[in-house]
Amino acid sequence: MAINIAIDGPSASGKSTVAKQLCQKLGYVHLDTGAMYRCVALYFLRTGLDINDEDKLKKALKDIKIDLTGDGKVYLNGQDVSQEIRTDRISQQASIVSANRFVREHLVTMQQKMAEKKGFIMDGRDIGTVVLPEAELKIYLTASSKARAMRRYLENKERGIESNLVQLQNEIAERDYRDMHRKISPLKKADDAILIDSSNLNKDEVVAEIMKLITEKI
Ligand code: C5P
Repeated sequence: MAINIAIDGPSASGKSTVAKQLCQKLGYVHLDTGAMYRCVALYFLRTGLDINDEDKLKKALKDIKIDLTGDGKVYLNGQDVSQEIRTDRISQQASIVSANRFVREHLVTMQQKMAEKKGFIMDGRDIGTVVLPEAELKIYLTASSKARAMRRYLENKERGIESNLVQLQNEIAERDYRDMHRKISPLKKADDAILIDSSNLNKDEVVAEIMKLITEKI
């Protein structure tokens, strides 16, 4: 029996990487909701939209088409933006636009439609609390800000991007604060979510731990 799995947690806690690996093992579909907020942020930046102009904002949201493909690619209005949405600038902008009520309502509705059936692993900040409150398994994946900054640093390096570790840690702390303190759907652990602290675990260990929980459920 297929189930739906919600993985929430702060930035760079490894949610997407772990979700992708789990999907490969299970034949499930991964929905990276952060990528959707990143697409909205990129669109607003490109068009120079004033987020406080409600009418323009609502119209702009209707003009945004986001496609997440099975092989992890992200398309914004037909253009492959998989790389462009991963910059630190877009990370910060996504965190800012995601506090907007209209942006959230729009994307949450899309996400709920995408996961109407079972067999999805969705990762984000409000999946267990708002998007899929009925998900059969909820994980809250976290790690110390130091461990997360180090992971992002190494990820960047692998992509050929040089970054400053202290600056990355500061940016992560800033984003955590914003995501956890916004009025609408702040990042928090759902009451029935299982907490996994991956500060001292590697990817494979986290995947193994969640696989154990999934096996118990199905
Ligand atoms: O997960 P990722 O780092 O790609 O998300 C980028 C930003 O999008 C987050 O910092 C957060 O502000 C926002 N987000 C959100 N709700 C989600 C997923 C992401 O508010 N479900």
